[in-house]
Amino acid sequence: MTANRGRTIFERIIDREIPAEIVFEDDDYIAIRDIAPKAPIHLLVIPKRHTERVDEMTDAAEMGRLWLTAVKVAREHAADYRMVVNCGEGGGQVVFHTHIHILAGWQNGPESD
Ligand code: AMP
Repeated sequence: MTANRGRTIFERIIDREIPAEIVFEDDDYIAIRDIAPKAPIHLLVIPKRHTERVDEMTDAAEMGRLWLTAVKVAREHAADYRMVVNCGEGGGQVVFHTHIHILAGWQNGPESD
């Protein structure tokens, strides 16, 4: 059981209360550019349905659609890329609305693992 942390910045972006550079959107997902990029290309793929963290998602079809959407967005921006999900404070998660990071655009791959 996780604490209720209230409405997150991503829900406010989905609801157009806060601006963001949107690179993809459909009925169920939005993808935006990260405001503090950790790679030359840094996108966030965000399901509109609220879960705090990806491991709250128990439906295989929903999980599959999320990853298929992330792959589609990634392939539109880069041939090679890294995907990262931070899960919980100990995993480096800061925004508690599920999202997948897409990192890409290095000349010779990321500098470290
Ligand atoms: P995480 O640590 O996985 O929760 O990552 C949250 C990410 O959201 C970080 O990489 C932040 O730079 C990014 N972020 C926070 N606020 C915004 C915003 N308003 N627009 C775009 N990205 C944001």
